[in-house]
Parts: sequence; C-alpha cells; structure tokens
Amino acid sequence: MTSLKPPELKPNDFIHGESSFSAPGIARDDVEAVNRAKPREFYAPRPAIYPKQAHGTFRRIKWIVMAVTLGIYYALPWIRWNRGPDLPDQAVLIDLEHNRYFFFFLEIWPQEFYYITGLLIVSALGLFLFTAVAGRVWCGYTCPQTVWTDLMIAVERFWQGDRNERIRLDKQPWGAVKIFKKGMTHLSWLLIGLATGGAFVFFFRDAPTLAAELVTGTAPESAYFFMGIFALTTYVLGGLAREQVCIYMCPWPRIQGAMTDRHTLLISYRPERGEPRGPHKKNDSWDGRGDCIDCQACIAVCPTGIDIRDGSQLECIQCALCIDACNDIMTKVGRPANLITYDTVAKQEAKAAGLHEPFRPVRPRTILYTGALVVVSAIMLVAWFNRTLLEINVLHDRNPPYVQLSDGSVRNGYTVKLLNKRPEPRTLLLETEGLPGAMVGIIGVDPSEHGHVHVPTDELREVRVLVSVPPAEAAKLGASSTPFWLVLHDSENGTHTKRAAKFQIPQPRHDNGHEKEDNHERH
Ligand code: SF4
Ligand code: SF4
Repeated sequence: MTSLKPPELKPNDFIHGESSFSAPGIARDDVEAVNRAKPREFYAPRPAIYPKQAHGTFRRIKWIVMAVTLGIYYALPWIRWNRGPDLPDQAVLIDLEHNRYFFFFLEIWPQEFYYITGLLIVSALGLFLFTAVAGRVWCGYTCPQTVWTDLMIAVERFWQGDRNERIRLDKQPWGAVKIFKKGMTHLSWLLIGLATGGAFVFFFRDAPTLAAELVTGTAPESAYFFMGIFALTTYVLGGLAREQVCIYMCPWPRIQGAMTDRHTLLISYRPERGEPRGPHKKNDSWDGRGDCIDCQACIAVCPTGIDIRDGSQLECIQCALCIDACNDIMTKVGRPANLITYDTVAKQEAKAAGLHEPFRPVRPRTILYTGALVVVSAIMLVAWFNRTLLEINVLHDRNPPYVQLSDGSVRNGYTVKLLNKRPEPRTLLLETEGLPGAMVGIIGVDPSEHGHVHVPTDELREVRVLVSVPPAEAAKLGASSTPFWLVLHDSENGTHTKRAAKFQIPQPRHDNGHEKEDNHERH
C-alpha cells in the first residue's frame, strides 16, 4: 500500500516566484501569515491584519448568527410583557430594586438564585459538549467578541473598502479623504458601542422610560456610567483590539484544549490532497502535485491573520471563513471543494496512511458531558416544577417556648413570614394539622377574618401566630415537643401549602419523689 503521507515541507518552500493564479483581489506579495512555522520573535509588534470579505456557506451562516444574536441583544429589552400595576411591563428585566429577575413567564427571586447557577452549569456543559464534538464553534460563531468584531470589520469595510483598499489607504499620507474615512469608521464604532451600552442598561429598568431619561439627561448616574463603560469596551475590544482579545486575553482557547481530542472536528487543511502546493497555470496538468495553488486566499480572509495550512493553532477561532475562501478558489480552478474543511486529527492521520476512519461523535467524553447535561437539566426541571409560589417561614418563640394559661391550656407562639410570589394578592386561611383541639389566633388580624391573612402581591408579610391546645388535649401529648403542620389554604385557587412546626408543652419534673410541673408565666 502506498502511503499518502505528504513529504516534509516547510511552508516557506512554497512562497516564491510569480503566481500564475492569484485569488481575485489579492496580490500574493502582500499576503503573509502572522505566525509562519518559523522561529518567532518575542514581543513582536502587532502585525496589521486586513481581513478580506469572504463569500460562501459559512459566511452566510455567520451573517445569520450575527443578525440573530445582535437582534436578540438589542431588541429583547423592548419586548413588552404584562407584569401588573407595580412593575414595568418588560419581558426581560433585572429588577435590582426588588431583587428579582424576570424572563418572560419566569420570575426568579433572590432565594431562588440557584436556578441561575443551574442555568450556568447547563450552559457550561452544553459548551463542553459542543466543543468536544465540533471544536471552537462558540468562538467561531456566537462569542460576543467574534460577533462584535465581525460587525466592526463590516463597518470598516463599508467606509474604507475591502482588504486592498484598506491596505492602500493605510499606506497613503493623511489627507481629507483618509481623515474622513477613518473618522467615519471610528465614529460608527463609537455609535455601535453606545447602542451596545444603551441596550445593556435597558435590561435593568423599563426600557422606554429609561431611553427618554437618557435623552433628557434625567437618568440615574449609574445608567450613564455603565452605558459609558460598555460603549468604551465595545469600541476598544471589537473595533481596536479584535483578534488580540482571542489570542492574548481570553482564557477559553487555553481551556478548550481539555475538551477536545483526536476525534474533535477542527477546521483543517488536508495536506494529503493539497501538497505539494504551488502556483498553477491554466491548462497545466494536475498530475504529481497537490490542489493547493498557494494563492493565500485562506490567509487573506482570516480574521486572526493565520495560515491554516500550518496546522491546528491556538490563534484559529474556527470561523470557517478560510473554507469559504478556498472553496471559491477550488471552484475557479476546477478542483473538488473542501481542501480546507471540518475534519478530525484521527481521520487525517488515517487518510495519510491510506486508511479510513469514520467521524466518532459518540465517545466516552461526549457521553459523559451529555449524561451530566441530562442529569443537571432534569434536576433543574424537577426543582422548577416543584417550586412554590408561596414561601412560608415559621419561627418558634424561644423564650418562653410555651405559656400555660390559667384554664390549663398550653399556648405556643410563632413568627410566620409569608411571601406571595403570585402576581395577584392572596387571602390565606391559616390552620393546623396533626394537633388535635388546637386553636389558632393571629395577632393583628381581625377575629372577624376567621384566621384569614391577606398577603399583597410580591410582598413579604410577617404575622404573629398563637396556637393553643386545651388542657385535656395537651395532657394526651406524650412528648414535650410534638410535630404538627401549619397549613395555609388559598380558597381562590384551592391550593394549600404547609410547613412543619413543633408544639411544646411543660415537661413533668421529678423532685424528691414528687412530680412537679415547670413554673412558667401564667395568664
Ligand atoms: S484559520 Fe480559518 S477558521 Fe481559523 S480563524 Fe482563520 S479563517 Fe477562521
Ligand atoms: S489552501 Fe486554498 S485558499 Fe489557501 S492557498 Fe491553498 S488553494 Fe489558496
């Protein structure tokens, strides 16, 4: 069997001479990958990168993802949702004033913050799973840094033209045209930054009201502060720093290596098909050479300025634009597409050895991530569907724990806190269960209300509850502390919620052979 392993070639072996075929709009001599596989200098200055516009399937997918993600971010605070008379009718609202988070029909209270934690865990596990299967899809398509950088580059292209025009503009001396083009680019970036910061603060207050306040200068200072911070970071990170954030600032490229393996799909150049590379003249034979014509279109479109033909690299955000660029070239020169493609290391190694290796999305790593994802999601769902919309907190009086009344009955006092999480007020009947003969009195509630407590919507109400047990029934309670239930009935919707409590009675005391009772306050 003949090995298809490519000969040991150095990339610079192929950067030479006149090209008979260049990618449209690319002069070969001004395209140079920023990280050629050669000894590199430490602390090298940042190379200028002028990403060329790509056209193709993955570019279209990225436009769609950009439109959807930015659309969601900018439009979400403006979606209305009926939240009753006391709250803004906003579908997604982080209500810091009342410590609550609203997401359409979901309402999360501070004591339910574990739902947010659970959501973050589910998101992280989902990200692990996607990364294990298809590499840095998050980086390439949905990361805010990628999306906003893509937007900033599109704006730059709008004002300054595509790659070659931008290169020429940068080489030009400063003049009116250059000042105008550069000025409009930076102004547009700043406006995008302002819109981004504005959208961010709208999540925290009623968006239409806050927008009016921002315009009239009457918004809270914190709104201007955070809007300014977000505007500046969007401008700097998306407009100026761009690929530097991915290469030097973001920890994810370093972490994701722990989730990938030989079976993970990565954007890969197929050397067994592309090598030996070199310029190709029209009508020349393709025999004895590879399909790569060394046109460098893949480098020209790359937003991080790398050469994917050097192999998998930390700088590669897996945006797939080099696939589009190369497919474009392959179509033009009449060779099969996907010289650069999503591929796995295992498949590439097998191909180089003349073998076949299938794509293996199901493997121990992905099974583990999927299992963890299912378990955490199931726990979250069970917790969510069992969440109560009435929180009850019962605190037994500590001193005195009980009071014996003059008629012999025993009384215990409790502080009961009721939190109504429904969007409407509730009237609740408070009763006991499991404590025969018990009578309930609520301090501050008119006896004519017959044990009913009114709890306004979204409010915490605290009441003092006195539970009395007649002497005959108290005598039957064997233990000094008897468990029972405090039950709240909602007559309007027929639901009932209960909370465990304990009823304490005087403990018989033995003293010199005589049985005595505790001497407590008598009423
Ligand atoms: S090498 Fe290709 S996939 Fe990687 S960042 Fe550059 S264009 Fe995107
Ligand atoms: S891999 Fe494709 S796009 Fe890149 S230089 Fe070779 S032919 Fe051109």
